[in-house]
Formats: sequence, structure tokens, C-alpha cells
Amino acid sequence: MELARKSLFFVVDDDPVTRLMLCRFLERHGYLAKGFANGALVLDAFDQERPDVILMDAKMPVMDGFEACRRLKERPDLRHVPVLMITGLNDDDSVDRAFEIGATDFITKPIHWAILRNRVHYLLANIEAGHKLSLAARVFDNTGEGIVVTDARARIQSVNPAFTHITGYPAREALGRKMSMLKSGRHSSEFYEKLWSELTQRGQWQGEFYNRRKDGTIYPQWANISAVYAPGGQIENFITVFSDLTALRESEQNLLYVTGHDALTGLPNRHLFHERLSFVLGEARESGTMVWVLLLDLDRFKVINETMGHDVGDALIVEVGRRLAAILGGRGSLSRLGGDEFAVILPKTEDAQSVAQLADVMLQSMRDPFVIHEVEFFAGASIGIGVHPLDGEDAKTLMKNVDAALYHAKEKGRNNFQFFRNEMNTRALARMRMETSLRMALERQEFELYFQPQIHLATGELAGVEALIRWNRPGHGMVAPGEFIPLAEETGLIIPMGNWALNDACRRARSWFASGVKPFRMAVNLSGLQFEQPDFVAWVTETLSSTGMEARWLELELTESIAMGDAVETLIKLKSLSEVGVRLSIDDFGTGFSSLKYLKRFPIDTLKIDQSFVRNCADDLEDAVIIRAVIGLAHSLGLTVIAEGVEKSDQIDFLQIHGCNEVQGYFYGRPMAESALLEFLRKRGDS
Ligand code: C2E
Ligand code: CA
Ligand code: CA
Repeated sequence: MELARKSLFFVVDDDPVTRLMLCRFLERHGYLAKGFANGALVLDAFDQERPDVILMDAKMPVMDGFEACRRLKERPDLRHVPVLMITGLNDDDSVDRAFEIGATDFITKPIHWAILRNRVHYLLANIEAGHKLSLAARVFDNTGEGIVVTDARARIQSVNPAFTHITGYPAREALGRKMSMLKSGRHSSEFYEKLWSELTQRGQWQGEFYNRRKDGTIYPQWANISAVYAPGGQIENFITVFSDLTALRESEQNLLYVTGHDALTGLPNRHLFHERLSFVLGEARESGTMVWVLLLDLDRFKVINETMGHDVGDALIVEVGRRLAAILGGRGSLSRLGGDEFAVILPKTEDAQSVAQLADVMLQSMRDPFVIHEVEFFAGASIGIGVHPLDGEDAKTLMKNVDAALYHAKEKGRNNFQFFRNEMNTRALARMRMETSLRMALERQEFELYFQPQIHLATGELAGVEALIRWNRPGHGMVAPGEFIPLAEETGLIIPMGNWALNDACRRARSWFASGVKPFRMAVNLSGLQFEQPDFVAWVTETLSSTGMEARWLELELTESIAMGDAVETLIKLKSLSEVGVRLSIDDFGTGFSSLKYLKRFPIDTLKIDQSFVRNCADDLEDAVIIRAVIGLAHSLGLTVIAEGVEKSDQIDFLQIHGCNEVQGYFYGRPMAESALLEFLRKRGDS
């Protein structure tokens, strides 16, 4: 520490010449000096000014130097000011007395100027060092940073109060122990090795790491460790200055949360949304996956907020957030971007259809009235949808386009969603129209069953018919099931639809048989969803009794995936159906993964070889081998085999040679309406 100002000397001597000479001498050596004629005067002067050193004559009138020095040393604020006694009394008593009352040093008269110069110089150097030390000590004791001094082997030599405050170890428990007493166990040995090698090579290390307090808690700290070198160049000590980052981390986290979340809804805010989006997009770029973003904006928020007040507006926003969160469940992440704008990020695995469905559900829930303070509101919303990477590689472009899509939705009269890409809108729209009309089709009884004959290969007799559903869609003609069954499966409509089909098939068959048609099997297709219904078996038996259909004429066509589902449950259901007397067949056999061995445990009656094998069985060696194997194994299990999709006579020849039991296909008859079937039967003489 440099003393910034010049040192000030008070020179106290009753002899004006000595006083003046002393002052001049000091000034010549670059100090400031003030003269006083006696001890009493100097004591008064302290109230205005503080000297760094006092040169004090021992013998003076009014108040001698000894007395002045004694009084000086009584005052706590002046006690530290060094007093250099100048005395003509060159006797041991005076010297002893001077030191006794607290004088720092003394010189004798007549003044030996060279000695005085050295004494003064030495005194000032001492003062400076003392200053530095006391300053360092004050820093050491009072700083909030923990300070540890260790020897070269990291044994603790000295710690400050802050060390104790932070680590919980009082000095007496820390001294002599190694720094490793504070190890948290959170860092690898490589971490400490690296720290040490840096410290020994460069003499310095700083960084963040975890330590353990006396009470066992682990805390993060920022530490600055420096080596202290002995004159020989070897490391003598290490000084570690560290601060506890716990509070900082907590406040940072809090800040992060506060800055990352919307205070009203508790949802992530715009800031966090953008961070998340960028993160998700980064991941998606690496994995090559899609990321959907939905932007929802309430249609009537402004009006409600302005007419009903902000309280109501706030409550509405909270409820909107709650509804959206409930719809999403764990799917994607919801944020409130501000105002009445909400955003959803849907990473991966989503296709346009499911996103459209989600948007539709979101819109529906916004259409439901909001009840706030017992008043009903209708808010409604519009949604814009975009997808990465098609609509934007980066967050900014993507959001710009999602915004445009939202704008488009507003333009379209609100209360709807729009994809940024028009072709997606067209498809989504077509699908939604289809879904709506599919729902209505059930009520309006637009479905109809067609029947396709199944023939005994050996005799050419009719073995049965398969009921195949058709949708007589107004304006579209007869729609084949391939166009609506997948959508019906997705929406769950397949359940009432399939139930209708089963009921209608039984009802019609029963009426044919009652009118004299020779009974035959009625095969009805089943969806997995139908089969999964807990009361499925009961429902089948009920249908049988309510339609008057005999169980033995009903055959249910299951797919391999149904049969291979939850084994115990499936087995129970299949067994009860079989006990009722209903026949069971496995449809599209060969396209799934069922093994014949597995099927052995099930009460299955028939295997339907999928048409893809039948199509080329006469020419394709591989298909031929498969069909022969299936027929052989099925027969060894006692099952009937039926081949579907039979169109040509060479296929029939092949199937006949290899012992296939029955066939179904265009060769014998297409699926036909009831009247056509009855006509078909009449012509064949089966009725
Ligand atoms: P599936 O059960 O495999 O039905 C056989 C399909 O092959 C029928 O198509 C039939 O018209 C067609 N087909 C019959 N013979 C030939 C042929 O010689 N050549 C060719 N190329 N095709 C032939 P469809 O009627 O369009 O039915 C398609 C699928 O829809 C059915 O496949 C079935 O999985 C499903 N489906 C039909 N009706 C129902 C139903 O009531 N409930 C359920 N769950 N699914 C049904
Ligand atoms: Ca079928
Ligand atoms: Ca089939």
C-alpha cells in the first residue's frame, strides 16, 4: 500500500530554533511538518489534524513531553500515533520512562541529523507495513469470502471467520487438517488432478466446484487458489479465497423461473417457449424428426377483457390454460406467449392428421362456455399450425409461418385451425368432413352389407358368405371400406359400426333362413377395438338371441393381431365364443406374425389364406410353397382352410390339388347386395 499523501509530522519543542530546524529538515526530505511550543498546544491541535508521527521534546514548559505522550496514549484514537522522543537527558531512566509511557523511539540532543533521518525513515516504513498488515488482517477477518492458507501439502495453517461461517468448521477444528476434509465427492479424481497440476505449474487456479460443509450439506463455491513461493522458488503456501454460491444459484434459479414462467397461469412464458423451441429444433435437426407448433389465440378475448374488466380477463386466461393443459396431458409442451396467445410444441411422432385432431379437440374445448364469477362467456379460438422442417428450419422462420397460419385462421372467420401449408389444410378438411359425415352415416343408416359367397372346393357347394360393409354415401356413391375403416378405427366409430354390421348380418341371415333358404355360414369381420370391449362376448350372445340367429351359422373373422393380443384375456373370450357355438376364423392369414403353434391353443376353426399369396400361387414358387405349408399345417391342427381373392381357374386348380377346403373370390362372385345374393342363390339352386 502506498501512502497516498505526504506524511505529516508534529514537531513539539519549546526551543524555536530546534523546532524550526527540525521542521525544515523534515520538509527537505519530503515530509510535511508543523511546529508546537509545548505539549498542551499539540494535544489541542489533534482535534483539527492527525499527524503520522510526533517528534516530541522531553523537557518543555507548561506540559512536558512525558506528560503529553502519556495523555496521548490514553486516547484510543491517538494511541497508535508513534511518538519519537527527543531528549537531552541521556540517561537510562529517561529512556526507560519514555518507552514506559509508550514512546516509540527516542533520539538525543544535540541532534545527529543522519541518525534522525534513518530513524524517521525506518519508523515510516514500519508504519506502512503495519498499515498493510492491519488492513490485510481487517480484510482477512471481515471479508465475506472464505480464506484458507495452507502449506505446500495443503495442510491448513490459517482460516478466517468467513471460512468458519461457510464451512461450519471453527478454526481449531480446521487447523492442521488437509483441505480434502472439504471434499464433496461430486468430482472425479481427474478433476482434482487437473486442479493440482494447473496449480503447481501455473501457480494459479480458479473455478467452481462443490465442497461439503461440516453438517454434510454440499455447496457450490467459486474459488481462487494461488501459490505463494519461497525465495528459493519452491511453493511454500497456497492461499484459497472462495465464496459460497448457494444463495447466488438459488436466486439465479428463482430468476430463471420467474423470467421463464408466466405469473398468471404458471405456464412457461414466451421467453422460455423460444428457448424450448430452439432446443427441440436443434434436436430435431440432428435426428431428422418433425416438430409441430400450434399457436392458439382466443377469438373474443379483447371484447371480454374490455367490457368485463381485467379480473374476468385474467380468470378466463387461467381457465383456458387449464383446459389446454388437460387436453394435452403429457403430450407436447404448452406455453403462454402473452395476452390470450398460447403455444404448443409437439416434437416427434406426430402426423398431420393427429395434429389436426388435437387442434380440433382444443378448439372444441374453447367453444364450451367459460363460467367466471357465475357469468357465462363464449370465447372461441383460432389456431395456426406449422411444422419443422417444412415450414421453417429455424425457430424464427417457423414461428413467422405459424403466425401467418393463425392469421389465416382468423381471416377464415375464426373458430378454426389452419396449417401453414395449404395441402395439409385440404387433407385435414377432407378428413374432418369425412369424420363428420361418418358419424352421421350411422344415424342416417347409410351403411349396407354386401355378401360374398364362399364355395366348397370339393363339391362346389355354397359354404357360406362373408358380410362386407359398404357406405352408401350421398353424393359419393358406394364407398368401399378401405376408404373409411381406418378413420373409423382411429375415431372409435368402428365399434358402433361393427356392432351394427354384426347385428344386420345376423338379422338378415335369420330372415333368409326363415324364408326357406338353406342355411349357410355368415362370416362377419371384427375390429380389434370391438373385440377388446369387455362385454364383447355378452354382446355377441345377446345379438344372437335378439335376432334369432343360430350360433353355429355365425363365423367371426379375426385378424392375427387380435388373436395374438393379451393372451389370457383373448383366450378366455375366444373360448367362451366357441362354447356358445360361434365359429372363429383367422383373416388375412400369413400377413401377420402368428405362429401355428400358438394358434393351436386357441379354439380356431378356419384359416383364411390372404389374397396376396393366392394371387400368384399358380406362378410364384415362393407363394406356392407358403400356401402348401399353411394348408398342411392347418390340416394337421384340424383347421379348415379357405383361400380368398380367387380370380382365376389356374388358382383353383392349384388350391384343389393341395387340398384347400374352400375358396372365395371374384371367380365365384363379387361381394353383392342382398337382392343380388338371393338371386345368385336362386340361380345356383341353393335356395
Ligand atoms: P377382408 O376381410 O380381407 O375382405 C376381403 C376383401 O377382398 C373385400 O374387400 C373383398 O371385396 C375383396 N375381394 C374379394 N374377392 C376378391 C378378389 O377375387 N380379388 C380382389 N382383388 N379382391 C377381392 P372390401 O369389401 O373392400 O373390404 C376390405 C376390408 O374391409 C376387408 O378385408 C375387411 O378387413 C374390412 N371390412 C369390410 N367390412 C367390414 C366390417 O363389417 N367390419 C370390419 N371390422 N371390417 C370390415
Ligand atoms: Ca374378412
Ligand atoms: Ca381377408
